[in-house]
Amino acid sequence: MTDHHIHIGQFNEVYYDALELFELIELTQEQTKITEIRYSSTSSCRDDAELSLVEEEIAYAQGYESKNLTAKPYLWFIPKYSEQGIKVESAASSFDYCGIKLHPAGQNWDEENPGHLQTLHEIFRWADDNSKSILIHCGTQHCDLPTRFENFFAEYTNAHVILAHSNPVKETAEMVNKYKNVFCDTACISKKNFKKLSHLVNDKSKILFGSDFPITHYFSTHLFGKKLSLKEEYLKNIKITAAKEINFQVFT
Ligand SMILES: [Zn+2]
Repeated sequence: MTDHHIHIGQFNEVYYDALELFELIELTQEQTKITEIRYSSTSSCRDDAELSLVEEEIAYAQGYESKNLTAKPYLWFIPKYSEQGIKVESAASSFDYCGIKLHPAGQNWDEENPGHLQTLHEIFRWADDNSKSILIHCGTQHCDLPTRFENFFAEYTNAHVILAHSNPVKETAEMVNKYKNVFCDTACISKKNFKKLSHLVNDKSKILFGSDFPITHYFSTHLFGKKLSLKEEYLKNIKITAAKEINFQVFT
């Protein structure tokens, strides 16, 4: 099984070392059956984020060598790179990226800004041309609703769009049911919403497993005062969503 939503790097005051995380995930394999992870670096959210620094992290993470666990990176593209004149195609060619991550709540993508709009088209075109994924953080704010980039889903039909968090469930299911190329992930979803999602989505194979680990660990320890180890947290994340009703599919 693939975990489509893993993070490495700086998250607030904590630094999550990629190799330590990958090793730990591999150690849980007997229980989790996770054989592939797709990750992006939350260092992309730092105020002083620079592509070259994030690329150093990806290069380090790509040094993970294992027969049992495959780790594929996402390029987390931020509006700042667009403002710096960085082209998507050239940034995306540095590694064998499985896709591009967008976080419209963390970073302010403004379609009224011609540079931003052009970059968004470059992102979707790159994914469309190369049959890659675009993992989009979704939520209940106006800026991160699952419908936010709907016109791009319709235009770039060969890009696999993954609506991260499936939040809100109703709008997520509408998009997944309407567009062949739109999928969703289970990162941080509650049991109740997972049930609702499984009920509303017509093609259940379009619900992809994602954990959002280790951000889940950050919130449980730093916000909710829990004392779970990283390993215990990951096993918990898997339990919540790896429900029997769904055989999570894998796609390239
Ligand atoms: Zn995430």
